[in-house]
Parts: sequence; structure tokens; C-alpha cells
Amino acid sequence: MSDAVQKKLDHFMQGLIKRNPHEAVFHQAVQEVAESVMPYLLEHPKYLEANILERMTEPDRVIIFRVCWEDDEGRIRTNRAWRVQFNNAIGPYKGGLRFRPGVTLSVLKFLGFEQVFKNSLTGLPMGGGKGGANFNPKGKSDREVMRFCQSLMIELHRHIGEDTDVPAGDIGVGGREISYLFGQYKRLANRFVGTLTGKGLQFGGSLVRTEATGYGCIYFCENMLERIGDSLRGKSVAISGSGNVAIYAAEKAHQFGAKVVTMSDSTGFVHDPDGIDADKLAYIKDLKEVRRGRISEYAQQYSGVEFHADQRPWGVPVDVALPCATQNEISGDDAKELIKNGVLAVCEGANMPTKLAGVHAFLEAGTLYAPGKAANAGGVAVSGLEQSQNALRISWDHAEVDARLKTIMKEIHEKCVTHGKDGDGVNYVRGANVAGFVKVADAMLAYGIV
Ligand code: NDP
Repeated sequence: MSDAVQKKLDHFMQGLIKRNPHEAVFHQAVQEVAESVMPYLLEHPKYLEANILERMTEPDRVIIFRVCWEDDEGRIRTNRAWRVQFNNAIGPYKGGLRFRPGVTLSVLKFLGFEQVFKNSLTGLPMGGGKGGANFNPKGKSDREVMRFCQSLMIELHRHIGEDTDVPAGDIGVGGREISYLFGQYKRLANRFVGTLTGKGLQFGGSLVRTEATGYGCIYFCENMLERIGDSLRGKSVAISGSGNVAIYAAEKAHQFGAKVVTMSDSTGFVHDPDGIDADKLAYIKDLKEVRRGRISEYAQQYSGVEFHADQRPWGVPVDVALPCATQNEISGDDAKELIKNGVLAVCEGANMPTKLAGVHAFLEAGTLYAPGKAANAGGVAVSGLEQSQNALRISWDHAEVDARLKTIMKEIHEKCVTHGKDGDGVNYVRGANVAGFVKVADAMLAYGIV
């Protein structure tokens, strides 16, 4: 990085940190984008003169509210919820809701900011937003989760709509929660429209939405490998997480002939050297989605499997690593360990799972490294397709949606290559950030000073 770029970057980041104190993950997400985009800005001063990056890092608005609900013992419980409407320059706000105790405004701002770039990359008309609550669905009864979702929607419904802001799921918000949320929205709005995505198939959901993020991540990974004349066939794969993204990434990786040897949850990871095949994955789906159990039970079910408590799977030598759990789960040291063990590709199913030191290590080592905003965009892309189907009042079949998903992931890959070309290689971080930035920035320029 030249001195001029570094100086500009430092000045920009100092201002951002001053305006948003104590928001470490938001700073991190912006820093990653700014590192890639700043050289482009200096080459294209129209964006600098219009202060576009500064404007893009300030959310359009943040809604913060109290959610009161009654638990099964009749006690009154209080949580805090947010909706960050980050940027609607190219379409209605779109992004998931996260229910997890550690959720803070900083986490939702980082996710909302990432979402702006991701949604831009899909080529669909979607702005970026994110929301959630510091509510823990784990250990709650279905009725408690229902009462929480209904109470949250009493406030949220006035801020969302099919042309305004369209929430979806994320960590802790799956099919059950979306159903409760949509049921309550429909009651309050007295309208049956596609204001939430990830809905059940009986009431406006899209085929392939459940699988889309994981499948899309594998399509992207295959695109990266194809570009260098390789493929996933025969590759060993480490996956973290055992939720929605991880399960369907594992399923598609297996279908592409790869051997998935690890999965994890917040208690640790399992290492299965024989590979997690379709039958074993069916067990994990039932364990995590139906019985809501722990991944350690997998090690008791199958022989030759080791469970490593409180550890992440990045020390296991593999060809491909797919972080699919949560943010900052690959440290700089984890990245170096993966590189030392010869990892060929790292493709992020989760949002910002790699710390900046890890990102820099992968880029320096020339690892095929795909940031989440490109590699996991399949989920929101199919959410966009769900919105289209709702608006048209039709349903496409599985093959149609899957084909569209594949095409979108291929086009995202091409955009990353166009903007990230680096000698014979591709800097996918720069490619994704610059490609995502340009579309939104050009729309903002066209609107004038807003
Ligand atoms: P789920 O809630 O379905 O699964 C999350 C998985 O990650 C679980 O296995 C969970 O373990 C594990 N996990 C969560 N937090 C931690 C932690 N702090 N340490 C270790 N493991 C953890 O979420 P999703 O699969 O939907 O989301 C996973 C990631 O993908 C997130 O970063 C999300 O933002 C991103 N993403 C999701 C999309 C989607 O369509 N769902 C779209 C694009 C990105 P446990 O069961 O123990 O909690």
C-alpha cells in the first residue's frame, strides 16, 4: 500500500472510530472494505469529492426498542432489539435477524454494512440492513419463542414492508422463528405480502432458500477452483458450525465429491477422518434442527470420531476450509496453521469469520480466499428470488431456483475476478469490495446530496 493510500486510510479510520466508539467489530468490517476501496477512490476522485465512503459507513437509521414477554413460569422478561437500516440506495433494506445473547449494536452495524456490499454483488435490487435481539432461543420452549417473536413484531412491523425493509433469518432465527414473526406481521398489517423471507413453503417461501447459503458457498468455491483448473472432487474439507449454512455446505460439498472431515458448534468440534457422508449428515440435521442437541453426540454415535471440546477445527490438515459458524472464528494464528498445513482454498459461509490478521495472512500466502460477502451471498440472493416470486404470486420449481442461484454465484465470481485481478491470481477481497462498492456509490452519486 502506498504512503498516500495509507495516510488517507488512517485518517478515515480515525474519524470512523471517533464517531463510533466501542464498536470493534464494526470498525473491523469497515477497515477491511476501506483497505480495498481506498486505492480505487484515489484513482476515481469523484467518489472522494462526494465523500461517498464516509456516507456509506453511516446507517440511514437505527431503530432500537424494548421487547417484553412472559416466560412459561409467568415471569416478565425484557430484551433489547434493533433494526439497522443501513443503505437503501439500490433497493429496499434487506438482511437477517439474529437472536443471540452477545448481539450488540456494533455486531448489527458490522453485519448491516457487510450486507450492503453483498446485496449489491448479487445484482438484485436490494439495499442492506440487519437486525436482531439479545435473546437466547436456546433452552426456551416453542411457546416462549413464539411469545418473544410476537412481541418483537408488535414494534418491528411499523418499520418494515415488502418495498421498505425485508428481514430474514440468521443465527438463532430459523424456520420456526420466521413463521412466528410472519404470522404476527400478517395479523398486524392485515396484508399477505413478502415482507419476510425464509418463509415456509406453504405460505410464500421459496424452494432452495433453506439450502441456498451453504449451496451457494460451494458453488463459489467450485468456481474459484475451476479458474485454476481444479475442482472439489477428492478434496478434504474442514467445516465449522453445524447450523443452517454449515449443514448445506457439507451436503453440497459431499455431492461434489469432497470429503467433509469436521463440523462444530459452540461447545467444540468433531473430527471424522472417514468423512461425513449423506447418512451421517442426516443424523446431524436431526440432532441440530429437530432435537436441538450438541455436536459432541455425533462422536458417541459413530466410531473413529474424536470430539475436541472448546476448540475450532483449523488445526486439522485439509485442502479446503469453510468457516460457517460466526464472526472472528479464524485468528491470524489459525490462518497461519491452515497455510502451513497446505490449505488451498478458504471460502467463508459465515459473515466475517476471519480476523484481519488472518485475511492478511491468506492474501500474502496466495491462498484462494473468498470473503463472506461474496461466498455466502447465495442466501440473500434466493431471498431476493423469494421476493420476486411473492410479488409475481408464482412459485418456481427446485431446478429453476437452483439454476438461478448457480448463475448468480458465477456472476459474483466473475465480478470479483474483474475487480480483483492480481497478476495471474485474484484478490477476491478487493474484487468483492470494489465491485460491491461501485454500484451503490454510483446510485448515491446520482441522487445528489442525500
Ligand atoms: P445457525 O444459528 O443455524 O448456526 C450457527 C452455528 O454456528 C451453530 O452450529 C452454532 O453453534 C455455531 N456458533 C454460533 N456462534 C458461535 C460461537 N460464538 N462459537 C462457535 N460456534 C458458534 O446460523 P446460520 O448457519 O444461519 O449462520 C451461520 C453464519 O452464516 C453466521 O455468520 C451468519 O451471519 C452467516 N450467514 C447466514 C445466512 C443464512 O442464510 N442463514 C446467510 C449469510 C450468512 P451452537 O448450536 O452451539 O449455537
